[in-house]
Amino acid sequence: MKKIALIGSTGSIGRQVLEIVDKFPEKFKITAIAANRDYKGIEAQMWRYKPDIAVLSDAEYANKITSVPKETSLYYGENALMHAAVSDADLVFVAVMGFAGFKATVAAIKCGKDVAIANKETLVAGGEYVTKLADSLGVNLIPVDSEHSAIWQALDFDRKKPFTKLIITASGGAFRDEPIENLEKVTAKDALNHPNWQMGAKITVDCATMVNKGFEVSEAKWLFNCDADKIEVLLHRQSIIHSMVEFIDGSVISQMAVPDMKIPISLALNYPERLDLGLDRLNLKGKSLTFEDIDVARYPCFPLVLKAIKAGSNYPCAVSAANEVAVNAFLQGKIKFTDIYGFLADALERTTEKSIDYETVIETDILARSRAISRLSTKFNQ
Ligand code: MG
Repeated sequence: MKKIALIGSTGSIGRQVLEIVDKFPEKFKITAIAANRDYKGIEAQMWRYKPDIAVLSDAEYANKITSVPKETSLYYGENALMHAAVSDADLVFVAVMGFAGFKATVAAIKCGKDVAIANKETLVAGGEYVTKLADSLGVNLIPVDSEHSAIWQALDFDRKKPFTKLIITASGGAFRDEPIENLEKVTAKDALNHPNWQMGAKITVDCATMVNKGFEVSEAKWLFNCDADKIEVLLHRQSIIHSMVEFIDGSVISQMAVPDMKIPISLALNYPERLDLGLDRLNLKGKSLTFEDIDVARYPCFPLVLKAIKAGSNYPCAVSAANEVAVNAFLQGKIKFTDIYGFLADALERTTEKSIDYETVIETDILARSRAISRLSTKFNQ
């Protein structure tokens, strides 16, 4: 029985983790859950799973919780997430969105716990620090993102196995066929209409800008310990091949499946063994697979994120923080889709290079976030 601390239990990935736990109760037990402000969700989950620990980060909403099972200790407030991260679990599953995942991941690693990382910002902002820390403590970092899970599967679940190239596939997001001149007018509702995947709001917007794909290059760089130049990104509209690995003899191994996050999630929970998830089978008959270059005129944020990744140090952290502010503003209808780019460019330009440690990551995040917020209030009259 594997004990799991699930951070971000009420979000899209978190709920899918719980669906798998529900399907295989003899294999997994939830010992901690954590959410940001979904007090109804966390209350229902507390009663359903009776974990040792439950957390609601936003203390204001914790007051609305009406009852807590006697088996569960409820913590709330900004630093409460740490209780879930350091709880008695075999695996800490970090599915929370945004920068909050970084602190929780670091806390879990410091306690010697393996971490399944579904939170991109952890590896984008602090990849260098987090991977070194994990290596030094013998902690396993397990990929959850579908592309990185595909690569991990092609490497026989061994992140250290040698390869010559990684090929990450991209669906292109909601606006891949929208005339470029229309992108100024698209709304959050349009952006949330992803052609292939069902995901949370922020990541769906990040897919439409392809900031997400830039972040995934960074994730791959740190998870598989390779230079960004060894990672190629191709537009693959069908989302059937989830990524590929090229080896020294020229062989390329890909992972294919219907686009469903339950596959990478279940492997993060149960690798190297696979589970029967009851999913649709891939039917390739009559299907064509296509691969295209990324159109940088359509996705100007993509080369910008790559530039930040290649610059390294704290640049990706700054760009990620500014992106979080900009995407939120776009989702709230405060800025246009095409305005997101300016926030990222501004963050890249105004950041002073600093070598990466825990404090630098936190400082860079705060500074870039506050600059993005003031850009929002001065340029967009908020
Ligand atoms: Mg992905």
